[in-house]
Amino acid sequence: MNILVTGGAGFIGSNLCDSLIEKGHNVSVIDDLSTGFLENIIHLQGHPGFKYTNDTILNASVMEELVAESDAIIHLAAAVGVKYVIENPLASMETNIRGTEIALQLANKYKKRILVASTSEVYGKHTHAPLKEDDNLIYGPPSTMRWSYAAAKLVDEFAAIAYHRTKKLDTIIFRCFNTIGPRQTGLYGMVVPRFIQQALRDDPITVYGDGQQTRTFTYVGDVVEAIIRLLSCPHGSGEVVNIGVMEEITIAELAEKIKILTSSRSEIVFIPYNQAYGKDFEDMMRRVPSLEKLNALIGYVPETPLDDILVKTIEYFRAKTT
Ligand code: UDP
Repeated sequence: MNILVTGGAGFIGSNLCDSLIEKGHNVSVIDDLSTGFLENIIHLQGHPGFKYTNDTILNASVMEELVAESDAIIHLAAAVGVKYVIENPLASMETNIRGTEIALQLANKYKKRILVASTSEVYGKHTHAPLKEDDNLIYGPPSTMRWSYAAAKLVDEFAAIAYHRTKKLDTIIFRCFNTIGPRQTGLYGMVVPRFIQQALRDDPITVYGDGQQTRTFTYVGDVVEAIIRLLSCPHGSGEVVNIGVMEEITIAELAEKIKILTSSRSEIVFIPYNQAYGKDFEDMMRRVPSLEKLNALIGYVPETPLDDILVKTIEYFRAKTT
């Protein structure tokens, strides 16, 4: 198949490209390198099944050519990372809303299957677990910019579902929970690459708040496997589905674990949220997915244990710094 991957130079996107190429697909990437890196796909350049277009998904005419020559689209291009979104609220909303609208419009025009990436952020401030795809969503006020990301991605979900219901567009929306592994950058706030890099430098490991907030961390290779299975899944069109794991860990425990796995001399320090993200910040205290729907659709759920993922990611960062 010829697959268009928007945001293919990003962390999940580039890992996805590797796997698609390995499975014999032709891959076309569009990425403006706003949060992605050329270095993530440089090894694919020159491969006969790989093509890279350096442009924004907001460029509708370029997107039209790419959609027209593809068999299916995996739409990952987005402004990502809590820190990035808070620091770039307008550009983030533009990419996340208008960019997805362009991708959906074109997928509909050329009648191509489109998988749309969404996020667990969409659930908002729940504390119950596990989160099911049809749960209510709980946000804070618009003065708290964090929620603009959730709201923009929710608009994307509504738009995809609306296209499905009114135009029969073949679309599946997947909500990624915290995904980690090689190539993830800490520049936009993501906790695991930040903690690993701090630990490897023996710098203080910066836990925000009291560290009692929890997350579930999924290996990027498993997320990619789930996306590829969804791509060829005969069911699920018009549906929203979680991708993640259920193993939960507090951020304070995560800091401790990374300190031990790296044999670091780092001190673990606790930093108030307002010092880390400015005023009006709200964290999500808990985020555990229900995986029933994913399992029912593709007969697969991610399973790499957290320690194994951390070891692989630590190796990646060690190799990068030597
Ligand atoms: N976090 C932290 N120290 C950091 C970066 C993040 O304690 O240097 C915390 C953050 O406040 C959140 C958790 O780690 O509670 C996960 O943050 P991340 O930005 O990776 O993802 P998200 O908040 O979107 O789940």
